[in-house]
Amino acid sequence: MLPGIPHSERWRLALRAGFAAVFFAIAASLIVGLTNLSQLARYRGAVTQSQAVATALQSLLSALQDAETGQRGFLVTGDTSFLAPYEQAGALIRTRMDSLRTLLAATPALRTRIAAIDVNATAKLGELRQTIDLWREGKQADAVAVVHAGRGKELMDTLRAEIDEIWTLQEADIRRLTVARARSHRLVAISIGVGSGTALLFLLLVFALQEQKDAIEGELARTIDNQRERLRVTLSSIGDGVLTTDATGRITFMNAVTESLTGYSQEEAIGRAFESIFVIVNEFTRAKVVNPITTVLERGIVVGMANHTLLIAKDGTERPIDDSAAPIRDASGKLVGVVLVFRDVTEARRREVTLIDSQRKLRAADARKDEFLAILSHELRGPLGPISNYLEIILRPDTDPALARESAVNMDRQLRQLVRLVDDLLDVNRVTLGKLELQLETMDLRSAVHQAVDTARSSFADKGIRLSLQMPVSEQFVRADQVRLRQVFANLLNNARKYTPQGGEVTVDLRQQDKFATIHVRDSGVGIPPDQLESIFGLFSQVSESRNLANDGLGIGLTLVRRLVEMHGGIVYAQSAGPGLGSEFVLRLPLTEAPLRIPGENKVNRNSNTPATILVVDDNHDNADSLSVLLGIAGHTVFVAYDGESGIDLASKHTPQVLVLDIGLPTLSGLEVCQRVREQEWGRAAVIIALSGWGQASDVARSDEAGFDAHLVKPVPYETLLSTIDRLRAARPAAR
Ligand code: ADP
Repeated sequence: MLPGIPHSERWRLALRAGFAAVFFAIAASLIVGLTNLSQLARYRGAVTQSQAVATALQSLLSALQDAETGQRGFLVTGDTSFLAPYEQAGALIRTRMDSLRTLLAATPALRTRIAAIDVNATAKLGELRQTIDLWREGKQADAVAVVHAGRGKELMDTLRAEIDEIWTLQEADIRRLTVARARSHRLVAISIGVGSGTALLFLLLVFALQEQKDAIEGELARTIDNQRERLRVTLSSIGDGVLTTDATGRITFMNAVTESLTGYSQEEAIGRAFESIFVIVNEFTRAKVVNPITTVLERGIVVGMANHTLLIAKDGTERPIDDSAAPIRDASGKLVGVVLVFRDVTEARRREVTLIDSQRKLRAADARKDEFLAILSHELRGPLGPISNYLEIILRPDTDPALARESAVNMDRQLRQLVRLVDDLLDVNRVTLGKLELQLETMDLRSAVHQAVDTARSSFADKGIRLSLQMPVSEQFVRADQVRLRQVFANLLNNARKYTPQGGEVTVDLRQQDKFATIHVRDSGVGIPPDQLESIFGLFSQVSESRNLANDGLGIGLTLVRRLVEMHGGIVYAQSAGPGLGSEFVLRLPLTEAPLRIPGENKVNRNSNTPATILVVDDNHDNADSLSVLLGIAGHTVFVAYDGESGIDLASKHTPQVLVLDIGLPTLSGLEVCQRVREQEWGRAAVIIALSGWGQASDVARSDEAGFDAHLVKPVPYETLLSTIDRLRAARPAAR
């Protein structure tokens, strides 16, 4: 409507304009009304006067007519009683003429006419008196002659005409006045109407404006309330602490975060000096620091809080905080308060510490990895040195056969050491990644322990350590992966041998305790410091002094042992009275129900020495040839090919019961060879084993998909290969 002018101002302007209009309208109506009212009074006076004049004239004429009628009566009858009207007429006419003169004092024109009437009336009265006097004097004939002369009639006619004329004038006057009075009446009515209408309108306008004003004020109040509420909610929901003070530093607002961090409720804090609620000290010196609110109040600038500030809550709780304070200014720029925003940085500090800790751990792990690589290369080189020496001895043409045989046995021991190292490494990797799957079967734990102890016996004897075994007579059935359990015992026994000096003693004790089988591997060796009884199960961890003693191992054996035991639902832990006092490893495995029969046992035995036709395909000639010799020694008929195509040819020709295929082959991969063989009638019944350098889960899955019965990772121990062949042949009757 009026752009640029504020709403309240517009409202005031409209009200003023309304007032002015109403004032003028009412004033005009008042003037018109009053003027016409006085006019009306005048008209009323004039009309009354005209009516009085008319009445007086009427009365005058009547008096003359009555007097004349009386005169006639007297003249005819001579009765004097007829003269009463005549006798009264004189005084009456005088009175009427006086009042007419008074009434018409201000009307000179009529006064002249009245004077004429007065003359004629006096003349008429004179004519009447003359006739009456003549009659009384006895001159009746003269009296009648005067009457007949017509002078009296003439006077009466003149008088009537004159009175009529005045009458007519008065009537005209009255009519004019009546019209004027009616107009004045109308004007008074109009002015009253206009005045009261305007006043009414104004009242309506004021009412409407008041209503509008109320509505606007209500709306404004609601908007302000909403905004205030929104601001309060916003400040309350901010994740940081918010506190405001007035210009004197008294608290005016605190959000919920501030309440929880300071320990004061808003009700308690409002109106109090900020220093008593927001108490801060230096984190390290604990000296009071300058409160940022003080600085803002004094200097009117935005202040970031000093680092390492501690907020002390009502209950004494201390929290590291961080943030800033800023001035609140009004529209004129005057400082009216301070807003302080702060946050609890305990969590951030903790994360910082955690980060530093993780970095430290990462660095330590990195150092451990470097150390591990150094140890690994040392451990790998360890057996390789003697192997190459023994080989040298064997290859010399003049070597004594007995020496050559002894060298070969020693080489085999070193080789096993190497294989065990690599196996452990691969296994720990698989176990850590959760990719190792157990081939669970119900088995007698005694046989696994027995086999492990038997295998270890010769190396214990070599070192001059006594190894004894105690086992219950009853079977101890567990659900376990035979190969993995043997690996666990082999590791524990190997450690016991490594960390026990010559002349020492190692005992393996298997017992049943409730629903568990417990195996104690006890040695009289170097022992373990109490603080490291748990850490030795960590990857790559070794008791520092033990390295010099044992001089081999990667620090992964016990990690593997623990993971494998846990995968079997068991536990393993170490005990030791301390360095030099021997160690004990305790292993507990849950027992299970006895099986109806021990699977595989008989079949393996039945098949173990049944000769088979075996095809070995490997592009590593040495591997293929040596394997061929070993399998031949076991009584099998063996054919060898060095690439995929030749492998297929030989297979078609000899239809072997067992195929041992390398995967990475020239011409055709081992996977393709397997697929082709499986397409043949005879090939579907054959046992096909993958023998590869790759042992990741994905490699095993690929072999499985191509149709292999098993996936073995090189180097595979001779016995493992033979037992795998036997087991698989037993499971495939047609391959026997
Ligand atoms: P390593 O290959 O070093 O033997 P392990 O994981 O098998 O790795 O063992 C970790 C560490 O635990 C060893 O380095 C050694 O310090 C300690 N340890 C293991 N077994 C024994 C034991 N029987 N006696 C003393 N210390 C042992």
